[in-house]
Amino acid sequence: MRRVRRPKAPPSSSEKATLDERETILRYYEHWDGRTPYPSDKYKAYRAKDVRPALTEAFFGKCAYCETYYASTQQMAIEHYRPKGAVKIDGALVPPGYYWLASEWTNLLPSCTDCNSARGQELPGSVERTVGKANAFPLASEASRAKAPGEEHHEKRLVLHPYLDFPERHLTFTWGTGTIEDGWISPRRRSRKGAATIEVCGLQRRGLRRARRERLDLLQAHLRSALDAQRNVQRHPDDDELVQQLTQRIADIRQFTNDEAPYAAMCREVVDDFFEHQLGIG
Ligand SMILES: [Zn+2]
Repeated sequence: MRRVRRPKAPPSSSEKATLDERETILRYYEHWDGRTPYPSDKYKAYRAKDVRPALTEAFFGKCAYCETYYASTQQMAIEHYRPKGAVKIDGALVPPGYYWLASEWTNLLPSCTDCNSARGQELPGSVERTVGKANAFPLASEASRAKAPGEEHHEKRLVLHPYLDFPERHLTFTWGTGTIEDGWISPRRRSRKGAATIEVCGLQRRGLRRARRERLDLLQAHLRSALDAQRNVQRHPDDDELVQQLTQRIADIRQFTNDEAPYAAMCREVVDDFFEHQLGIG
């Protein structure tokens, strides 16, 4: 997960149909019977046709939580950061959820189906457990849970948000151990937000650990060839061709850290460390 600058809202988010829908939902909950949630198939504004492309563009076709490039293989889920219809609290689905944020632009994130849906995943140690965000939205203090529009600003959120948090301060990755643990994610400095995000989105699920490890293997091959290129330059500092090769190797490595690259947050951690401690270019 990486920090993303809040993108401009698509035109539909301020169009009449969206504002009308929000109004209808607010009115519904003003006279709510306390049991029946607003029908989920009636929420249409967040599915306006410009929302999906706007999210795909802002996140370069990657999942907001796990940075898997979904655009080539699957239909992205428009995920409600704060669930719109009910929240899972102590294992039970509790309505009404954050109905007033159903079409709020900053509450919509692109997600792969694994991060978004609750289902069985294999976690480290061959533990199988149901993970995936679905209706989860844990708070550090349940007493801070918003019950009406505006109250969400006082909540003690635990799930990282790419516009509001700096995920790299809360998450860290394992690499260079040459073991199966390469590509694992863990909370940085015991961050509660980091731990909650890993748990809720299942960021330690088997397929994802493996995909990150494969990316690391590829990156490490590039790092080795940069070190070779640097050694060559040290031996023959006046050879322009060798200098040129080293420059190219460094440019290749930087590609892994670009915003659009898969697992860029993990690769940045590795590359920053490599540049500083091995290549000595900081
Ligand atoms: Zn994902």
